[in-house]
Amino acid sequence: MHKVVIVGRPNVGKSSLFNRLLGRRSAVVADVPGVTRDLKEGVVETEKGRFLLVDTGGLWSGDRWEKKIQEKVDRALEDAEVVLFAVDGRAELTPADYEVAEYLRKKGRPVILVATKVDDPKHEAYLGPLYALGFGDPIPTSSEHARGLDDLLEAIWQKLPVKQIDTEPEVAAIRLAIVGRPNAGKSSLLNAILGEERVIVSEEPGTTRDAIDVEFFFGGNRFILVDTAGIRKRPESLVEELAIKRSLRAIEEADVVLLVVDPFQVGDRELKLANHAMEKGKPTLLVITKWDLVTKEEAPKVRRELREKLAHLEHLPRVFTSAFTRQNLDKIFREAVRLHELNHTRIPTAELNRFVGVWTTKVQMPNFKGKPLKILYATQPEVAPPTFVFFVNHPEFVTRAFENYLKNRIGEDLGLKEIPFRLIFRGRRG
Ligand code: GDP
Repeated sequence: MHKVVIVGRPNVGKSSLFNRLLGRRSAVVADVPGVTRDLKEGVVETEKGRFLLVDTGGLWSGDRWEKKIQEKVDRALEDAEVVLFAVDGRAELTPADYEVAEYLRKKGRPVILVATKVDDPKHEAYLGPLYALGFGDPIPTSSEHARGLDDLLEAIWQKLPVKQIDTEPEVAAIRLAIVGRPNAGKSSLLNAILGEERVIVSEEPGTTRDAIDVEFFFGGNRFILVDTAGIRKRPESLVEELAIKRSLRAIEEADVVLLVVDPFQVGDRELKLANHAMEKGKPTLLVITKWDLVTKEEAPKVRRELREKLAHLEHLPRVFTSAFTRQNLDKIFREAVRLHELNHTRIPTAELNRFVGVWTTKVQMPNFKGKPLKILYATQPEVAPPTFVFFVNHPEFVTRAFENYLKNRIGEDLGLKEIPFRLIFRGRRG
Protein backbone atom coordinates (compact mmCIF):
# COMPACT_ATOMS: atom_id res chain seq x y z
CA MET A 1 0.00 0.00 0.00
CA HIS A 2 1.10 3.57 -0.55
CA LYS A 3 2.57 5.19 2.50
CA VAL A 4 2.30 8.84 3.47
CA VAL A 5 3.94 10.16 6.64
CA ILE A 6 3.15 13.33 8.56
CA VAL A 7 6.17 15.09 10.05
CA GLY A 8 6.53 18.39 11.89
CA ARG A 9 7.59 19.90 15.18
CA PRO A 10 5.28 19.55 18.21
CA ASN A 11 1.92 21.35 18.31
CA VAL A 12 1.65 22.27 14.66
CA GLY A 13 -1.52 20.20 14.38
CA LYS A 14 -0.26 16.91 13.03
CA SER A 15 -2.75 14.70 14.78
CA SER A 16 -5.72 16.92 13.91
CA LEU A 17 -4.63 16.75 10.30
CA PHE A 18 -4.25 13.00 10.63
CA ASN A 19 -7.74 12.65 12.08
CA ARG A 20 -9.25 14.88 9.47
CA LEU A 21 -7.71 12.95 6.62
CA LEU A 22 -8.85 9.71 8.16
CA GLY A 23 -12.28 11.15 8.62
CA ARG A 24 -12.67 9.93 12.13
CA ARG A 25 -11.33 10.80 15.52
CA SER A 26 -9.08 7.89 16.22
CA ALA A 27 -6.17 9.64 17.86
CA VAL A 28 -6.08 11.79 20.96
CA VAL A 29 -6.04 15.44 20.07
CA ALA A 30 -5.22 18.04 22.66
CA ASP A 31 -3.20 21.19 22.92
CA VAL A 32 -0.60 19.66 25.19
CA PRO A 33 2.81 18.97 23.63
CA GLY A 34 3.64 15.30 23.47
CA VAL A 35 0.14 14.09 24.20
CA THR A 36 -0.08 11.67 21.32
CA ARG A 37 2.14 8.69 21.72
CA ASP A 38 4.40 6.98 19.23
CA LEU A 39 3.05 6.47 15.78
CA LYS A 40 -0.56 6.46 14.72
CA GLU A 41 -1.59 4.80 11.54
CA GLY A 42 -4.72 4.54 9.53
CA VAL A 43 -5.89 3.94 6.02
CA VAL A 44 -7.26 6.87 4.07
CA GLU A 45 -9.85 5.84 1.52
CA THR A 46 -10.32 8.21 -1.39
CA GLU A 47 -11.90 7.96 -4.79
CA LYS A 48 -8.49 7.50 -6.33
CA GLY A 49 -7.51 4.68 -4.04
CA ARG A 50 -6.25 4.16 -0.54
CA PHE A 51 -3.03 4.92 1.23
CA LEU A 52 -1.58 4.30 4.66
CA LEU A 53 -1.24 7.50 6.64
CA VAL A 54 1.26 7.62 9.49
CA ASP A 55 1.36 10.34 12.10
CA THR A 56 4.73 10.69 13.80
CA GLY A 57 3.14 13.05 16.32
CA GLY A 58 3.78 10.87 19.32
CA LEU A 59 7.51 10.89 18.74
CA TRP A 60 7.92 14.58 19.37
CA SER A 61 8.24 15.56 22.96
CA GLY A 62 10.05 18.78 23.64
CA ASP A 63 10.64 21.74 21.42
CA ARG A 64 13.95 20.35 20.33
CA TRP A 65 14.54 18.21 17.33
CA GLU A 66 16.37 15.44 19.07
CA LYS A 67 18.59 12.74 17.71
CA LYS A 68 16.45 10.06 19.34
CA ILE A 69 13.35 11.34 17.58
CA GLN A 70 15.23 11.59 14.34
CA GLU A 71 16.10 7.91 14.44
CA LYS A 72 12.47 6.98 14.93
CA VAL A 73 11.33 9.28 12.16
CA ASP A 74 14.07 7.75 10.02
CA ARG A 75 12.41 4.41 10.43
CA ALA A 76 8.94 5.77 9.71
CA LEU A 77 10.27 7.39 6.54
CA GLU A 78 12.10 4.31 5.31
CA ASP A 79 9.41 3.33 2.84
CA ALA A 80 7.38 6.54 2.79
CA GLU A 81 6.41 7.69 -0.67
CA VAL A 82 5.28 11.15 0.34
CA VAL A 83 6.04 13.25 3.40
CA LEU A 84 3.56 15.81 4.67
CA PHE A 85 5.65 18.50 6.34
CA ALA A 86 3.25 20.25 8.70
CA VAL A 87 3.95 23.80 9.82
CA ASP A 88 1.75 26.10 11.83
CA GLY A 89 0.24 28.52 9.32
CA ARG A 90 -0.59 31.01 12.03
CA ALA A 91 2.72 31.17 13.88
CA GLU A 92 6.18 32.33 12.90
CA LEU A 93 8.60 29.68 11.76
CA THR A 94 10.73 28.36 14.59
CA PRO A 95 14.28 26.96 14.58
CA ALA A 96 12.70 23.53 14.98
CA ASP A 97 10.77 24.02 11.72
CA TYR A 98 14.02 24.83 9.94
CA GLU A 99 15.73 21.82 11.43
CA VAL A 100 12.94 19.56 10.25
CA ALA A 101 13.20 21.16 6.80
CA GLU A 102 16.93 20.55 6.73
CA TYR A 103 16.42 16.96 7.78
CA LEU A 104 13.78 16.33 5.12
CA ARG A 105 15.98 17.84 2.45
CA LYS A 106 18.66 15.31 3.34
CA LYS A 107 16.13 12.48 3.22
CA GLY A 108 15.27 13.37 -0.34
CA ARG A 109 11.69 12.06 -0.17
CA PRO A 110 8.91 13.94 -1.98
CA VAL A 111 7.65 16.58 0.45
CA ILE A 112 4.38 18.46 0.54
CA LEU A 113 4.46 21.53 2.73
CA VAL A 114 1.20 21.77 4.65
CA ALA A 115 0.24 24.98 6.44
CA THR A 116 -2.10 24.04 9.27
CA LYS A 117 -4.63 26.06 11.26
CA VAL A 118 -5.47 28.33 8.32
CA ASP A 119 -9.09 28.58 9.42
CA ASP A 120 -9.76 31.80 7.56
CA PRO A 121 -8.91 32.34 3.87
CA LYS A 122 -7.58 35.75 4.89
CA HIS A 123 -4.73 34.05 6.68
CA GLU A 124 -3.43 32.77 3.38
CA ALA A 125 -1.96 36.17 2.64
CA TYR A 126 0.44 35.67 5.51
CA LEU A 127 1.94 32.41 4.35
CA GLY A 128 4.78 34.07 2.41
CA PRO A 129 7.49 33.33 4.98
CA LEU A 130 6.87 29.59 4.56
CA TYR A 131 8.58 29.68 1.16
CA ALA A 132 11.82 30.16 3.09
CA LEU A 133 11.68 26.48 4.01
CA GLY A 134 12.45 25.64 0.42
CA PHE A 135 9.59 23.31 -0.32
CA GLY A 136 7.62 25.53 -2.66
CA ASP A 137 3.94 26.36 -2.29
CA PRO A 138 2.43 25.57 1.06
CA ILE A 139 -1.02 24.03 0.95
CA PRO A 140 -3.23 25.90 3.39
CA THR A 141 -5.45 23.64 5.48
CA SER A 142 -7.69 23.87 8.48
CA SER A 143 -8.48 20.72 10.34
CA GLU A 144 -10.96 22.63 12.45
CA HIS A 145 -12.97 23.76 9.43
CA ALA A 146 -12.01 20.95 7.11
CA ARG A 147 -10.53 23.40 4.61
CA GLY A 148 -7.96 22.58 1.98
CA LEU A 149 -8.18 18.85 2.43
CA ASP A 150 -9.27 18.13 -1.14
CA ASP A 151 -6.35 20.17 -2.44
CA LEU A 152 -4.05 18.28 -0.14
CA LEU A 153 -5.36 14.89 -1.26
CA GLU A 154 -4.97 16.00 -4.85
CA ALA A 155 -1.34 16.97 -4.19
CA ILE A 156 -0.71 13.65 -2.45
CA TRP A 157 -2.06 11.66 -5.40
CA GLN A 158 0.06 13.72 -7.76
CA LYS A 159 3.18 12.79 -5.88
CA LEU A 160 2.40 9.14 -5.27
CA PRO A 161 3.87 6.80 -7.84
CA VAL A 162 1.07 5.96 -10.29
CA LYS A 163 1.86 2.34 -10.82
CA GLN A 164 -0.21 0.77 -8.11
CA ILE A 165 -3.17 3.11 -7.83
CA ASP A 166 -6.39 1.40 -6.95
CA THR A 167 -5.31 -2.08 -7.92
CA GLU A 168 -4.13 -3.40 -4.62
CA PRO A 169 -6.30 -5.91 -2.86
CA GLU A 170 -7.21 -5.40 0.73
CA VAL A 171 -4.28 -6.16 3.04
CA ALA A 172 -4.71 -9.52 4.71
CA ALA A 173 -4.98 -9.18 8.44
CA ILE A 174 -2.83 -10.97 10.97
CA ARG A 175 -5.00 -12.31 13.76
CA LEU A 176 -3.45 -11.96 17.19
CA ALA A 177 -4.54 -13.56 20.46
CA ILE A 178 -3.42 -11.98 23.72
CA VAL A 179 -3.32 -14.66 26.40
CA GLY A 180 -1.78 -15.07 29.83
CA ARG A 181 -2.63 -15.71 33.46
CA PRO A 182 -4.92 -13.32 35.34
CA ASN A 183 -3.07 -10.12 36.26
CA ALA A 184 -0.25 -10.81 33.85
CA GLY A 185 -1.00 -7.41 32.36
CA LYS A 186 -3.08 -8.31 29.31
CA SER A 187 -5.69 -5.59 29.52
CA SER A 188 -3.09 -2.95 30.35
CA LEU A 189 -1.17 -4.04 27.29
CA LEU A 190 -4.31 -3.98 25.17
CA ASN A 191 -5.00 -0.44 26.31
CA ALA A 192 -1.44 0.61 25.65
CA ILE A 193 -1.68 -0.80 22.15
CA LEU A 194 -4.98 0.71 21.23
CA GLY A 195 -5.16 3.73 23.48
CA GLU A 196 -7.81 3.72 26.14
CA GLU A 197 -10.13 5.91 24.15
CA ARG A 198 -10.30 3.57 21.21
CA VAL A 199 -10.94 0.46 23.25
CA ILE A 200 -13.86 2.21 24.87
CA VAL A 201 -15.17 3.17 21.47
CA SER A 202 -15.04 -0.39 20.23
CA GLU A 203 -17.09 -1.65 23.11
CA GLU A 204 -20.83 -1.65 22.92
CA PRO A 205 -22.19 -0.90 26.37
CA GLY A 206 -25.02 -3.10 27.49
CA THR A 207 -24.58 -5.68 24.81
CA THR A 208 -23.48 -9.17 25.65
CA ARG A 209 -21.64 -9.88 22.48
CA ASP A 210 -19.52 -12.88 23.08
CA ALA A 211 -16.30 -11.77 21.45
CA ILE A 212 -15.09 -8.39 20.32
CA ASP A 213 -12.40 -8.33 17.68
CA VAL A 214 -10.51 -5.09 17.30
CA GLU A 215 -8.79 -4.07 14.12
CA PHE A 216 -5.84 -1.73 13.81
CA PHE A 217 -2.89 -0.92 11.59
CA PHE A 218 0.77 -0.87 12.43
CA GLY A 219 3.76 -0.62 10.13
CA GLY A 220 1.52 -1.03 7.11
CA ASN A 221 0.13 -4.30 8.45
CA ARG A 222 -3.46 -4.92 9.38
CA PHE A 223 -3.99 -6.69 12.67
CA ILE A 224 -7.04 -8.11 14.33
CA LEU A 225 -6.94 -8.72 18.05
CA VAL A 226 -9.29 -11.61 18.63
CA ASP A 227 -11.70 -11.78 21.53
CA THR A 228 -10.63 -8.62 23.30
CA ALA A 229 -13.81 -8.85 25.39
CA GLY A 230 -12.30 -11.91 27.04
CA ILE A 231 -9.18 -9.94 27.88
CA ARG A 232 -10.91 -6.97 29.35
CA LYS A 233 -13.31 -8.84 31.56
CA ARG A 234 -11.81 -8.69 35.02
CA PRO A 235 -10.80 -12.10 36.32
CA GLU A 236 -13.31 -11.86 39.18
CA SER A 237 -16.14 -11.32 36.74
CA LEU A 238 -15.16 -14.24 34.62
CA VAL A 239 -15.10 -17.69 36.09
CA GLU A 240 -11.57 -18.97 35.94
CA GLU A 241 -12.46 -22.08 34.03
CA LEU A 242 -14.31 -20.07 31.44
CA ALA A 243 -11.36 -17.68 31.13
CA ILE A 244 -9.09 -20.60 30.32
CA LYS A 245 -11.48 -22.00 27.74
CA ARG A 246 -11.73 -18.60 26.22
CA SER A 247 -8.01 -18.15 25.84
CA LEU A 248 -7.63 -21.62 24.36
CA ARG A 249 -10.23 -20.72 21.79
CA ALA A 250 -8.56 -17.39 21.08
CA ILE A 251 -5.32 -19.27 20.43
CA GLU A 252 -7.09 -21.51 17.94
CA GLU A 253 -8.49 -18.52 16.10
CA ALA A 254 -5.21 -16.63 15.95
CA ASP A 255 -2.40 -16.54 13.43
CA VAL A 256 0.10 -15.49 16.08
CA VAL A 257 -0.20 -15.79 19.86
CA LEU A 258 1.06 -13.10 22.21
CA LEU A 259 1.67 -14.85 25.50
CA VAL A 260 1.81 -12.12 28.13
CA VAL A 261 4.17 -12.93 30.97
CA ASP A 262 4.58 -11.13 34.27
CA PRO A 263 8.31 -11.56 34.97
CA PHE A 264 7.60 -12.19 38.65
CA GLN A 265 4.79 -14.69 38.15
CA VAL A 266 5.84 -17.49 35.91
CA GLY A 267 4.82 -21.10 36.11
CA ASP A 268 2.62 -23.87 34.80
CA ARG A 269 0.02 -21.55 33.39
CA GLU A 270 2.45 -20.10 30.88
CA LEU A 271 3.70 -23.53 29.88
CA LYS A 272 0.15 -24.81 29.40
CA LEU A 273 -0.84 -21.92 27.19
CA ALA A 274 2.35 -22.19 25.16
CA ASN A 275 1.90 -25.93 24.77
CA HIS A 276 -1.61 -25.47 23.53
CA ALA A 277 -0.34 -22.96 21.01
CA MET A 278 2.40 -25.36 19.89
CA GLU A 279 -0.09 -28.22 19.53
CA LYS A 280 -2.33 -26.06 17.43
CA GLY A 281 0.64 -24.99 15.33
CA LYS A 282 0.49 -21.31 16.31
CA PRO A 283 3.66 -19.20 16.38
CA THR A 284 3.99 -17.69 19.82
CA LEU A 285 5.74 -14.58 21.05
CA LEU A 286 6.55 -14.24 24.74
CA VAL A 287 5.63 -10.72 25.73
CA ILE A 288 7.39 -10.10 29.02
CA THR A 289 5.58 -7.11 30.40
CA LYS A 290 5.88 -4.83 33.47
CA TRP A 291 9.57 -4.44 32.60
CA ASP A 292 9.43 -0.93 34.11
CA LEU A 293 9.42 -2.66 37.51
CA VAL A 294 12.80 -4.24 36.85
CA THR A 295 15.77 -2.03 37.59
CA LYS A 296 18.85 -2.06 35.41
CA GLU A 297 20.78 -3.80 38.18
CA GLU A 298 18.15 -6.48 38.60
CA ALA A 299 17.60 -7.10 34.92
CA PRO A 300 20.28 -9.77 34.33
CA LYS A 301 19.09 -11.76 37.34
CA VAL A 302 15.41 -11.50 36.39
CA ARG A 303 16.23 -12.49 32.84
CA ARG A 304 18.20 -15.49 34.05
CA GLU A 305 15.41 -16.64 36.35
CA LEU A 306 12.90 -16.25 33.57
CA ARG A 307 15.05 -18.29 31.25
CA GLU A 308 15.18 -21.06 33.84
CA LYS A 309 11.47 -21.04 34.51
CA LEU A 310 10.69 -20.92 30.83
CA ALA A 311 13.36 -23.43 29.88
CA HIS A 312 10.83 -25.52 27.98
CA LEU A 313 9.99 -22.50 25.88
CA GLU A 314 13.58 -21.58 25.21
CA HIS A 315 13.03 -21.55 21.46
CA LEU A 316 10.28 -18.92 21.62
CA PRO A 317 11.20 -15.35 20.73
CA ARG A 318 10.54 -12.76 23.40
CA VAL A 319 10.03 -9.03 23.77
CA PHE A 320 10.54 -7.12 27.00
CA THR A 321 7.98 -4.41 27.32
CA SER A 322 5.79 -2.36 29.64
CA ALA A 323 2.27 -1.12 29.27
CA PHE A 324 3.26 1.92 31.30
CA THR A 325 6.44 3.06 29.59
CA ARG A 326 5.42 1.55 26.24
CA GLN A 327 9.02 0.46 25.62
CA ASN A 328 9.30 -2.01 22.73
CA LEU A 329 5.57 -1.99 21.99
CA ASP A 330 6.39 -1.54 18.31
CA LYS A 331 8.70 -4.53 18.46
CA ILE A 332 5.79 -6.79 19.41
CA PHE A 333 4.19 -6.12 16.05
CA ARG A 334 7.37 -6.37 14.04
CA GLU A 335 8.01 -9.74 15.68
CA ALA A 336 4.42 -10.84 15.08
CA VAL A 337 4.78 -10.05 11.39
CA ARG A 338 8.09 -11.88 11.23
CA LEU A 339 6.63 -14.97 12.91
CA HIS A 340 3.58 -14.85 10.66
CA GLU A 341 5.84 -14.79 7.62
CA LEU A 342 7.96 -17.61 9.00
CA ASN A 343 4.80 -19.61 9.47
CA HIS A 344 4.11 -19.18 5.77
CA THR A 345 7.57 -20.27 4.67
CA ARG A 346 7.50 -22.59 1.67
CA ILE A 347 10.59 -24.67 1.09
CA PRO A 348 10.75 -25.68 -2.56
CA THR A 349 10.72 -29.46 -2.99
CA ALA A 350 14.08 -29.61 -4.74
CA GLU A 351 15.73 -27.63 -1.98
CA LEU A 352 14.10 -29.70 0.73
CA ASN A 353 15.32 -32.92 -0.85
CA ARG A 354 18.80 -31.53 -1.18
CA PHE A 355 18.78 -30.87 2.55
CA VAL A 356 17.36 -34.32 3.26
CA GLY A 357 20.25 -35.78 1.27
CA VAL A 358 22.75 -33.97 3.45
CA TRP A 359 20.95 -34.68 6.72
CA THR A 360 20.72 -38.41 6.11
CA THR A 361 24.43 -38.74 5.37
CA LYS A 362 25.35 -37.04 8.62
CA VAL A 363 23.55 -39.43 10.90
CA GLN A 364 23.35 -43.10 11.64
CA MET A 365 19.99 -44.04 10.13
CA PRO A 366 17.77 -46.14 12.38
CA ASN A 367 17.48 -49.74 11.28
CA PHE A 368 15.55 -52.83 12.08
CA LYS A 369 17.17 -56.26 11.84
CA GLY A 370 19.95 -54.78 9.78
CA LYS A 371 17.57 -53.06 7.37
CA PRO A 372 18.04 -49.28 7.44
CA LEU A 373 15.33 -46.64 7.24
CA LYS A 374 15.43 -44.77 3.94
CA ILE A 375 13.89 -41.44 3.09
CA LEU A 376 12.79 -41.65 -0.52
CA TYR A 377 11.36 -38.23 -0.96
CA ALA A 378 10.24 -35.22 1.06
CA THR A 379 7.81 -32.44 0.37
CA GLN A 380 6.12 -29.57 2.17
CA PRO A 381 2.46 -29.56 1.17
CA GLU A 382 1.28 -27.05 3.75
CA VAL A 383 2.12 -23.81 5.52
CA ALA A 384 0.76 -22.41 8.78
CA PRO A 385 2.11 -24.55 10.29
CA PRO A 386 4.74 -25.70 7.81
CA THR A 387 4.15 -29.42 7.37
CA PHE A 388 6.78 -31.75 6.00
CA VAL A 389 5.93 -35.14 4.62
CA PHE A 390 8.68 -37.75 4.39
CA PHE A 391 8.05 -40.76 2.21
CA VAL A 392 10.10 -43.60 3.67
CA ASN A 393 10.60 -47.27 3.03
CA HIS A 394 9.29 -48.31 6.49
CA PRO A 395 7.51 -45.68 8.61
CA GLU A 396 7.68 -48.04 11.60
CA PHE A 397 11.48 -47.74 11.58
CA VAL A 398 11.32 -44.06 12.49
CA THR A 399 12.53 -43.61 16.06
CA ARG A 400 11.82 -40.73 18.39
CA ALA A 401 15.52 -39.85 18.32
CA PHE A 402 15.57 -39.73 14.54
CA GLU A 403 12.45 -37.62 14.41
CA ASN A 404 14.02 -35.22 16.89
CA TYR A 405 17.17 -35.11 14.79
CA LEU A 406 15.12 -34.12 11.74
CA LYS A 407 13.22 -31.53 13.78
CA ASN A 408 16.48 -29.99 14.88
CA ARG A 409 17.82 -29.91 11.35
CA ILE A 410 14.63 -28.33 10.02
CA GLY A 411 14.70 -25.83 12.85
CA GLU A 412 18.32 -24.90 12.27
CA ASP A 413 18.90 -25.32 8.56
CA LEU A 414 15.51 -24.09 7.37
CA GLY A 415 15.34 -21.36 10.00
CA LEU A 416 12.09 -22.53 11.57
CA LYS A 417 13.20 -23.18 15.12
CA GLU A 418 11.12 -20.38 16.62
CA ILE A 419 7.79 -21.72 15.40
CA PRO A 420 5.91 -25.02 15.52
CA PHE A 421 5.99 -27.20 12.41
CA ARG A 422 4.88 -30.74 11.66
CA LEU A 423 6.55 -33.89 10.42
CA ILE A 424 4.62 -36.73 8.82
CA PHE A 425 6.13 -40.06 7.78
CA ARG A 426 4.44 -42.08 5.08
CA GLY A 427 5.13 -45.44 3.57
CA ARG A 428 6.11 -45.90 -0.03
CA ARG A 429 3.15 -45.35 -2.26
CA GLY A 430 1.79 -47.85 -4.78
P1 GDP B 1 -4.76 -8.86 33.11
O1 GDP B 1 -5.56 -9.57 34.14
O2 GDP B 1 -3.77 -9.82 32.48
O3 GDP B 1 -5.54 -8.14 32.11
O4 GDP B 1 -3.84 -7.81 33.90
P2 GDP B 1 -4.02 -6.24 34.08
O5 GDP B 1 -3.72 -5.55 32.82
O6 GDP B 1 -5.32 -5.98 34.72
O7 GDP B 1 -2.83 -5.90 35.07
C1 GDP B 1 -2.71 -6.48 36.36
C2 GDP B 1 -1.96 -5.54 37.27
O8 GDP B 1 -0.63 -5.32 36.78
C3 GDP B 1 -2.60 -4.18 37.36
O9 GDP B 1 -2.49 -3.74 38.71
C4 GDP B 1 -1.76 -3.32 36.45
O10 GDP B 1 -1.75 -1.96 36.85
C5 GDP B 1 -0.39 -3.92 36.58
N1 GDP B 1 0.38 -3.75 35.34
C6 GDP B 1 0.01 -4.14 34.09
N2 GDP B 1 0.96 -3.85 33.19
C7 GDP B 1 1.95 -3.24 33.86
C8 GDP B 1 3.21 -2.67 33.47
O11 GDP B 1 3.64 -2.68 32.31
N3 GDP B 1 3.98 -2.13 34.46
C9 GDP B 1 3.56 -2.11 35.77
N4 GDP B 1 4.37 -1.57 36.66
N5 GDP B 1 2.38 -2.64 36.15
C10 GDP B 1 1.59 -3.18 35.23
